[in-house]
Amino acid sequence: MDYQSVLERIARDMAPQIGSGRPAEYIPALASVDPRRFGMAIADVDGKVYGVGDWQRPFSTQSITKVFTLALVLAAGDDLWERVGREPSGNPFNSLVQLEYENGIPRNPFINAGALVVTDRLQTLTGDASSELLEFLRQESGNPGLAFDPEVAESESAHGDRNAALAHFMASYGNITNPVSTLLDHYFWQCAIEMSCADLALAARFLARHGLRADGSRLLTRSEAKQINAVMLTCGTYDAAGEFAHRVGLPGKSGVGGGIVAVVPGRCTLCVWSPGLDERGNSVAGVTALDRFTTLTGLSVF
Ligand code: GLN
Repeated sequence: MDYQSVLERIARDMAPQIGSGRPAEYIPALASVDPRRFGMAIADVDGKVYGVGDWQRPFSTQSITKVFTLALVLAAGDDLWERVGREPSGNPFNSLVQLEYENGIPRNPFINAGALVVTDRLQTLTGDASSELLEFLRQESGNPGLAFDPEVAESESAHGDRNAALAHFMASYGNITNPVSTLLDHYFWQCAIEMSCADLALAARFLARHGLRADGSRLLTRSEAKQINAVMLTCGTYDAAGEFAHRVGLPGKSGVGGGIVAVVPGRCTLCVWSPGLDERGNSVAGVTALDRFTTLTGLSVF
């Protein structure tokens, strides 16, 4: 497969769409990002990377990091699935509405409520959830310069009432065990990690390699890697997961920074970035570019 030619074709086809949608505005530090940016990268299972456009430019990873915290918690052997479900929520990513009648158990690990529980578990298991995550991402991407953006973390913290409400509500059911303020700090730091499309495509390769890390050691069992990919397919793009599966046909995880990571198990990982979002918080150009990728190559899971 000539991935470089495919990426160049997609970038050409995408040109009229780039700039559609609006950057996330509820986190003020993200609102000022240029919506005309577009980058896309592919990493094959052996670590060769292909890219186009702004593929080496760091952006705010936001909810994409929820995939990696989930992997670290499962790798530690935690009984996470007693605290978090595996069903699509059909509601916005920051919704509170289902928590009360489901006794503080979030529907899945990729909505904010679920990710807060996962970060709470990682904090309990490691004592420093965000540093643990950052170190893992540095190792898997091969980029020791990866860092948090303090301005984004502070901006989100200053406007973080919704996430604080989710965390306190779940704490009242005993499903958050660390102090909420500590948990929120780690959650906001985790969302504020800056990475490029190349960094993210490389870091997610364990999902295409059936659980094997970049150095060949095993992070997850084959079965656990399958489980994460499955939950990405059904829940990774929130209340648009059905539409994403229909159009793209790959496990994918989006973030409100405008990035989306997608996985072709056994073949490659992709990351696309364009900051203009649709009303569900997914990158407009990003979803279209992934749709083009599976249409042009036939590489979907179906
Ligand atoms: N940091 C964002 C939040 O908690 C992440 C949401 C997202 O990327 N969908 O609201």
